[in-house]
Amino acid sequence: MNCHEAGIWLGAYADGHVGALRRYSIQRHLRACTGCAVKHQGLLALRARLRAEAPYFKAPPLARARSLLQRSPLLHSMHGGRVEVTHELS
Ligand SMILES: [Zn+2]
Repeated sequence: MNCHEAGIWLGAYADGHVGALRRYSIQRHLRACTGCAVKHQGLLALRARLRAEAPYFKAPPLARARSLLQRSPLLHSMHGGRVEVTHELS
């Protein structure tokens, strides 16, 4: 893995969203490359700060979320990656 590739994956890596093989490649690169290791530390610090400072939002209960969605003028639904936008008729 080179610095360009590492740069692409660092965000996902910091969030733990990479597979085992890619995680291993990134870890190996970070041990060998100070520049990317510093970037990675910066990302971790930024995420920790955001987590600490972000206000806590309670997710609305599912029923309320559903009724909000039903009352919206446009309904967006995903079907296998295809986005459909339909106008509500009632
Ligand atoms: Zn690098």
